[in-house]
Formats: sequence, structure tokens, C-alpha cells
Amino acid sequence: MPETNEKNMLRTLVSNLPGVTPDRAHALGDLGICTVADLIKHLPSRYETHHGSMTIENADALLGERERMNELATIETTIVSIKPGWRRGRKSRIEATAEDDTGRLEINWFNQPWVAKSLHPDMHVRLHGTLARHNGTLQMNNPRWEEIKEDDNLELLEGDLKPVYPANEGIASAHIARLIERVLEQSVNEIEDHLPENIRTELVMPTLSRAYSLAHHPTDAEEAKVGKRRIAFDELFLLQLGVMVKRHHRRDVMHAPKLRWDNEIKERIAKRIPFTLTNAQDRVIEEIAGDMATSTPMNRLLQGDVGSGKTIVALHAMLMAITSNAQAAMMAPTELLAEQHFLTITNLLAGSNVTCALLTSSLTASDRKKLIKDISEGSVDIVVGTHALLTDDVVFKSIAIAITDEQHRFGVQQRALLRNKSDDEFAIPHTLVMTATPIPRTLSLTIFGDLDVSTINSMPPGRSPITTKLVQPEDADSVYTYVKSLVEKGQQGYVVVPLVEETESGLKAAIEHAEFLQQGALQGCRVGVVHGRMNSEEREPTMQAFRKGDIDVLVATTVIEVGVDVQNATIMVIEHADRFGLAQLHQLRGRVGRGQLPGVCALIASPTTEDAIQRLEAIVETTDGFRIAEKDLEIRGPGELFGAKQSGIAPFKVARLPRDFELLRLARVIATSWINRDPSIEESPLLKARLYKAYGKTLGLGDVA
Ligand code: ADP
Ligand code: MG
Repeated sequence: MPETNEKNMLRTLVSNLPGVTPDRAHALGDLGICTVADLIKHLPSRYETHHGSMTIENADALLGERERMNELATIETTIVSIKPGWRRGRKSRIEATAEDDTGRLEINWFNQPWVAKSLHPDMHVRLHGTLARHNGTLQMNNPRWEEIKEDDNLELLEGDLKPVYPANEGIASAHIARLIERVLEQSVNEIEDHLPENIRTELVMPTLSRAYSLAHHPTDAEEAKVGKRRIAFDELFLLQLGVMVKRHHRRDVMHAPKLRWDNEIKERIAKRIPFTLTNAQDRVIEEIAGDMATSTPMNRLLQGDVGSGKTIVALHAMLMAITSNAQAAMMAPTELLAEQHFLTITNLLAGSNVTCALLTSSLTASDRKKLIKDISEGSVDIVVGTHALLTDDVVFKSIAIAITDEQHRFGVQQRALLRNKSDDEFAIPHTLVMTATPIPRTLSLTIFGDLDVSTINSMPPGRSPITTKLVQPEDADSVYTYVKSLVEKGQQGYVVVPLVEETESGLKAAIEHAEFLQQGALQGCRVGVVHGRMNSEEREPTMQAFRKGDIDVLVATTVIEVGVDVQNATIMVIEHADRFGLAQLHQLRGRVGRGQLPGVCALIASPTTEDAIQRLEAIVETTDGFRIAEKDLEIRGPGELFGAKQSGIAPFKVARLPRDFELLRLARVIATSWINRDPSIEESPLLKARLYKAYGKTLGLGDVA
């Protein structure tokens, strides 16, 4: 055993373990492993069945007359020579020969130039890979390999499962396995379980200590599964517990203003709206109003596809606050969207005595100062803004509702930071988060687990279908000819490009592309440009002209992604569509088909990566936002938890969604009943400590304690 503190194996630095050279310690560091505890948490990514090692002669006989075989074989032999074969750019080949009393074997390693650095003649090795025969010689291509040391006691029995660890150039999986094997027993004995025995029994799960032991050293596949399942459960359970702690804090410790809601208010609002609410809008308004009529702070997500009419729902919530003599705020991710909301709201409220203001970073210092004073004195009822609203000096006289539009762009934490002047530290506003990118069902229980969800599941009447087509770049001309023909009929269109400036990669920049179109395919059309490098003052005259129909075609970067609402615009052309994310394409496309005329979306691209091909196929195939969101999750993979990246929550190590959805549900049930019984987790200080270590910061549990 290594010379380490006997009581504190888990805290031992791996660099103090025997056989860990500074280089290897460095390589382990790159894998995030500094202590033995980190090493134990480094779980196998898969397991290989070990068939026992053989000699070259035996391997030759096993291959027999075949040219190659697919099963893996393990050969123990000695390297006699090694030389670089060839190298072309990132591609390379290392050739080695192994020879012993029983025969000769050729080995090739493709694109693994580092092999040459660590392998040398006379080295006794174990090679693991597939066998082939080339020109009569026995071969192995790209085998995994490890040096066989004198003290090698990792002799596996036939049929044993051999763990394969995530590794890197500096340290091989086999070496990690050897390190773990040495420290495993003592380390797992030191692992304390944060789950009490009764819960473990209920779950039919092993102790944490046993789980790690099984995951690293299973005797069969079932044992490995049992071990990993417990560890995955813990990851999901801690997150659920964190979410539940927050939920409990919000519901049982904090309070929000109880607002008035009745038919009189409803009818007064209805008189101002130039249309009738859809049933879906009516339903979600009642759900929201139901929450806001109580003093339990609302934490609700309003999801509805692009164009489903969320703004008017938000307006109802805001007017509920105003009626009860409180204020309301609405936050948008971009200035353009904030301006759009401000315009919509002031138009609808024209002639009423509700005062409305716009707060963005474009305000001059003196205008800003005045507005902040008005907000704190309560002489402004509704404040629409960007994240400029979240600065410390913005304090409301009495804010009752904070609405965030397009939440997936904000970190989870950025919500609910709007404050009141009141010195009641337990008072917070109700919060409503609106999103057009629905959260897939599989994720609605993760970091979003504390949100109640309202869904607008139908579109306002008079919506027109959108046809989406993928067009090769060489056929782009025909698209613009079509755009021109629509303009001649009095319709308008958008052309979206990825970046502002022309770059070497040939991406079409807004300004250049507009000029190019103006002089070519769109000659005679009135073309305008807006992009993200313009501030709102520079942008507004162009947007205004487009809304009024004085501009036919608006060339833009993704600044128009959300909020722009021009019913006469019927075509959306997206250049380099392969550069955009799926949700983004869906949002962009939602700019058309908003009026009586059918919409067309032309995606110009010749996708080269598998992901891009899948994204474009998905967007062509469906206009259903829910399906697109699920598809997006599928393509991007489980690593990128929706919204989690922005919030700083680390991806799970073992748990995988949507695969582990059932385990997640189980974790939620256990977490819920725990918090109901013991809301401040006094029963298990260890669990509490681990929870705060894992999520204290990202979930903002600090304010709760
Ligand atoms: P989104 O959900 O994408 O934010 P908006 O709130 O911008 O959608 O609404 C899109 C358009 O639909 C707006 O022009 C709005 O006035 C209109 N609209 C909303 N609700 C209705 C309705 N019930 N009937 C007709 N038009 C509606
Ligand atoms: Mg909207």
C-alpha cells in the first residue's frame, strides 16, 4: 500500500501515490483529478469483457483463415521496433513490430502520434484490439495498450469485466485502473453515506461506498449498473433537493402582494384589446391571476410558440398589479425586443392613466437618473427594459410582478432580483417567465423543477402556414428573384445573415450583403439594414420604416430574432442557415406567417456536419415548437442541459437525460418528501453540506440559509 495517512486516504493527493510521476500527476490534473477522492469519482465510461491474454501464436491460430475478426483479443508480447510511418497534417501513422518465441506481429497506430513517445523497444506490453492479416502477416490496428510491469498484479480472470476510464495522452486508462485498484478498498471504506438507511432500503440501493466499489470493480454487468445507478441517483437527488429547498423558501418564508382580480378588471382590459382572447390565452391568464391573488410568490413559466400571443397575457398580469396600486416590470433579452414590447404596451394603454417607461443602457445618464427616481417614487407604473433593469440602483416603490421574456437567454439566477424599497426582507414580487422555446418534458423537472408551467397551446386565429425550404447556395438567385416578385406584389421580407463584417470564411455580412442584393437581384427594391453593432437610436428609423412599409426588404443579423412583428412580411431568407441553432432558426422563421398571407422560409445552406444536417432536416420537417425543442435536445445531446450552461450548473457525470428520466422522478419524490418533513435538512448535516457544496452557489441557496 502507498505511504499515505491511513485515516485520510480520500484527501491524499494523487501526486503522493507511488508510481505517479509529475507528468502523470499533471495528466491526471487535466482530467480534474487532484485527490484520491477525485480519482474515486472518476468512473469508468464502459467495461470490456476480458478474454484472457494470449501469445502471438495463439492469436494467429484464433484468426485462422479469416482476414480479420471483430471480437477483441488481448496479446502479451514484447515490442522489438517502433518507427514513425508517415505524417500528413493531422493524420499520422506509427508502425511497430512485436516479436517473441511464438511469432511476429505488426502494429499500426493511426493518428496517435503520442504513442511513439511512450512506447519503446524491449517494452513488455499487453495489446488489446482486433486481429487482421495483411499480406500473410498478423496485424493489429489501433490497439489499446499498456505496459506490463514486474509488479503487475492486475491479472484478470477470464470473463472479468475490465473498466475503461476516460483518459488522455499523458495517462492511459490501464494506468488509471491500476491506481484505482490500489486505493479502492481503503478509500471506499472512508466514504460516508448521506442517505439514511431507511431511504436506501426504500430505494433498494447500495451504500455510496458499495456503489463506488461496484462501479470500479464489478464482477458482472449487473453489479456495474447497480453501482452507477446509485451514483446517478445522488446527482439527480442533490439537484432536486436544492430546487425543493428554494421552493420551500419561496413558498413558506417569502411573500408577495395579494392582488385583486375580478370580472370588472378583465372587462376593462378587454375593451383596450383590438381582438378577442383565445381560449388558451384566457386559461393561462386565469392560472396566472389565480397565483397572483394569493400572497404566495408566483414562480410561473409561460410557454407558447412564437406568435402565440404571450405579450397580451403578460399585460394582464401587469395591469393586475397596477389595479392594486403596485408596479410591474418586464425584462427582455435585447434592446430591440424591449423597445418592441414598450411600443406594443404604450399603444394598447394610450389614453389610460397608466404610465410606462423604457429602461435600457441607451439612456443618457441624466434620463436614467430621473427614471430611477420616478421608479422609486412610484410615479412610473410599468417599466420595460433589458438587463439594465437589474442594476443595484433600480429600486421600486412597490413592485408586484416581474416578467422576463425569453428566459432561456438569462441565467436562472438573474430572475427575481428586482427589489422593493420596503424594508420587509421577506417581500418579493411574483415572477413570470415567458419562453417561446418550450422546455422539453424531460428537463422540466431539473433546474426548472420549481416552476409552475402554463402553456398556450393554440395560435390566434388568422395565422397562415409557413413553408420551409432548404436551398443550395448556388440556387440562391432563384430565391431572391422570388423575393423580388413578392415585393412587386406589395409584400415585404427579411434576409438574415450570421455576422456584421465580412470575414475570411466568406460569411455574408449584413452591410455587404445588402449592397450586393441592392445592386443585383433586388435592384429597384428598397433595402434596409439593421445589425447588432447599431444602437437602438441608429436602428429605430430603419425599423420604423420597415413597419410602415417604406422598406421592402430588411437585411439583418439575428437582432430581429425576437419581437419584430410586421404582418405584411411574408418571406424570410436565412443565409448560412447551417450556422444557426435549431431554436434560433425556429424563432427567426416565426417572424413570417403573422398575417393573412402564407409565409415562406428559405434556408440557404450546404451543411457539412452531421449536426447541421439534422438541424436543417428538423426545421424543414416541422413548425411545432415542442417537437423542435425535443429534437434540439436530442441533437445537442444530454451534456448541454437546457439553460444549465448559462446558470453555471455543471453537467451530470453519470446521470443522463432523457435516459434517466425515471430515476429523476424517483429523486424528485424522495426530495419532496424530505423537504416536507425536514425543510432545512437538519436530519443529515452531511447531506446538507454536500448539497451546499454542489449547488449552493449556482442555485443561490446562500440567501436561503
Ligand atoms: P409571442 O407569443 O410570440 O410573444 P405576440 O404576443 O407578439 O406573440 O403576439 C403575436 C401577434 O398576435 C401580435 O400581433 C398580437 O397582437 C397578435 N395576437 C395576440 N393574441 C391574439 C388574439 N387572441 N387574436 C388575434 N391576434 C392576437
Ligand atoms: Mg414575444
